[in-house]
Amino acid sequence: MADPRVAIVTGSTSGIGLGIARALAAGGDSVVLNGFGEPAAIEALRASLGAAGARIDYDPADMSRPDQIERMVRDAQARHGRIDLVVANAGIQHTARVDTFPPERWDAIIAINLSAAFHLARAVLPGMQARGHGRIVNIASVHGLVASGEKSAYVAAKHGVVGLTKVIALENAESDITCNAICPGWVKTPLVEKQIADRAQRDGVSIDAAQRALLAEKQPSLRFTSVEDIAAAVLFLCGPGGGNITGTTLALDGGWTAR
Ligand code: NAD
Repeated sequence: MADPRVAIVTGSTSGIGLGIARALAAGGDSVVLNGFGEPAAIEALRASLGAAGARIDYDPADMSRPDQIERMVRDAQARHGRIDLVVANAGIQHTARVDTFPPERWDAIIAINLSAAFHLARAVLPGMQARGHGRIVNIASVHGLVASGEKSAYVAAKHGVVGLTKVIALENAESDITCNAICPGWVKTPLVEKQIADRAQRDGVSIDAAQRALLAEKQPSLRFTSVEDIAAAVLFLCGPGGGNITGTTLALDGGWTAR
């Protein structure tokens, strides 16, 4: 049997990243988990993802720190001998109009949502190029394609991720290294649950009503995209049919960007 692929998924202790890590592990891939959380909860995740036999490691690297990203990649390469697949997924959000947006929140969002994808690619590409094979998937957002008010840093970072994705794809197009961006619409994770709670409080309505209003405003399907939908898209881009798909965006947005 072929050796399992080796994957790093950043921000995989929660939400979309966890769903992606779970799907890769279920297929037998070795996965490096990353992200914040209680040590006991992370250890429980590591054990549950590895229950069917996949090798699961955890690295606590902070994606706002280029030195820690480089160290994470070096350590994973030393442990596994190679990295086949990386998913740059860690992300944070802050909402406020530009005139009141806290500059330190801008810096943090640009660092974690955009610069980390650059530093991760920079660190893994030499190994991928030496082996002539690799898959990079950046989790961008519909906000990499269109804008919404009160999300200046997030929209700027995600548009940046889409641009970065195209450059990495072009620079490696002649090898079997692909780089693509996935652009989810609303996915019900802690990152969005906070926005629903804020909206419920602002409008003085129930969580259910705020959730319906959030979907109705942007996502014509009126359904959340699931983390499993996004994981399936990652598996597709990294699977046998994905070899000549590069530099593109795949929107899982229930029609958000169609109108
Ligand atoms: P989430 O809050 O559930 O998970 C975020 C993950 O990133 C967590 O594991 C957290 O520990 C980790 N993280 C945060 N800061 C980090 C740092 N400095 N270093 C390392 N890890 C860090 O959020 P989510 O909704 O699963 O979001 C994942 C990605 O998907 C983000 O890039 C987000 O922008 C993107 N996205 C989410 C939605 C959505 O509707 N939820 C839509 C489009 C795009």
